Amino acid sequence: MAMNFPKCQKCDVGDLVPLSDFGSQGASIYFKAWACTNPNCGFNLKIRNGDLYIDEPPCGALSFCKTLRDTTGAG
Ligand SMILES: [Zn+2]
Repeated sequence: MAMNFPKCQKCDVGDLVPLSDFGSQGASIYFKAWACTNPNCGFNLKIRNGDLYIDEPPCGALSFCKTLRDTTGAG
C-alpha cells in the first residue's frame, strides 16, 4: 500500500501528509491542512475559506484556533 505524498519543499526530508478534521458531531470542518512529517521541520499549510496559509505557527494567538473552539464548543 504505497502512498505517494509530495516531498516537503522546506526541509526536503519529510513528506507532506493531508490532515482531516471533524467536529464533535461528526461534521466536517471546512479547511484542509497539510503538514510535514519531519518534526524538526514543522512546515505546514492550510487552505481555509479559499485562502492559502503557509507555515503558520501552531495554535497560539491564531483567531483560527479560537474560531474552531467557538464552533465546536470545546475548550
Ligand atoms: Zn519539512
